[in-house]
Amino acid sequence: MEKGRIDLHIHTTASDGTFTPREVVRYALEKGILAVAITDHDDVSGVEEALIEGELLGVEVFPGVEFSVDHEGTPFHLLGYMIDYRNKTLNETLDRLKKKRGERNLRIIEKLNELGFELTYDEILEEAGEGAVGRPHFARVMMKKGYVGNFYEAFNKYLRKDGPAYAERDRVKFTNAVNIIRSAGGLPVIAHPHGLEMKDRRDLGAFLDVLIGLGLAGIEVYYSKHTKNQTAMYLGLAEEKGLVVTGGTDFHGENKPGVDMGSGKGNMFIPYSLAVKLREACAKKSG
Ligand code: AMP
Ligand code: FE
Ligand code: FE
Ligand code: ZN
Repeated sequence: MEKGRIDLHIHTTASDGTFTPREVVRYALEKGILAVAITDHDDVSGVEEALIEGELLGVEVFPGVEFSVDHEGTPFHLLGYMIDYRNKTLNETLDRLKKKRGERNLRIIEKLNELGFELTYDEILEEAGEGAVGRPHFARVMMKKGYVGNFYEAFNKYLRKDGPAYAERDRVKFTNAVNIIRSAGGLPVIAHPHGLEMKDRRDLGAFLDVLIGLGLAGIEVYYSKHTKNQTAMYLGLAEEKGLVVTGGTDFHGENKPGVDMGSGKGNMFIPYSLAVKLREACAKKSG
């Protein structure tokens, strides 16, 4: 019997989510979610608050982070679980990434201004608060100013990849990100593999083999956007290659309308047994 559901992919106000870390944990309790992982983009400043709240409320909290990486021209996201969020190298890298994000965000502002929108970077920073700034913050400000009718319209018309207001940002090399995660005691897991757009099982398998050779330890099999067939394929590959299986919704609060914590688009159930296995894998690695 499964003990209950979990969610191992959650964003907070420390990046582009709209729930504070404390609110994430409270909401998890309310929804009967037994374990959550905090996986903000390029930022670990929300982890401690969530850990404290989790301890208080009896919700298991996994420290995590999500890097945007590149391996020889292929971009994807890499999750790092059970990292020591105080680790010096990790924090230095995150600070450097934050600066680069700043430069990239200014390019987005320039493009939006050229498109005729009156927006300043200060307005975006105000929307973002303390944490890592990302495109969802631009979308929200555009929505508030009446430039778009809703959140997704901002992406579809302007901010999406290759859209008229899109600016590419510096990605960390996969190998660097793996080393940073591992040196901070964490486990590197490839996020939402559907984003790779490798539809062929053999292509994806070969790519995973390369990444595994370089230190990849797990794969996010369960994800709000994965179809049944994709989930089955990723699960098969994980078993074949001995990868740790994880799952999460990529909850962003109001910054991802239609995706709820623990249930995604409504039909997800990520079993508690995955949290147990993830913890075991992390313990085995460091012990
Ligand atoms: P950034 O890190 O600034 O490139 O922004 C990436 C974030 O924007 C993702 O993590 C999502 O939260 C959001 N995002 C990216 N593409 C879309 C899209 N097409 N629709 C809605 N949100 C998106
Ligand atoms: Fe995001
Ligand atoms: Fe992601
Ligand atoms: Zn994410």
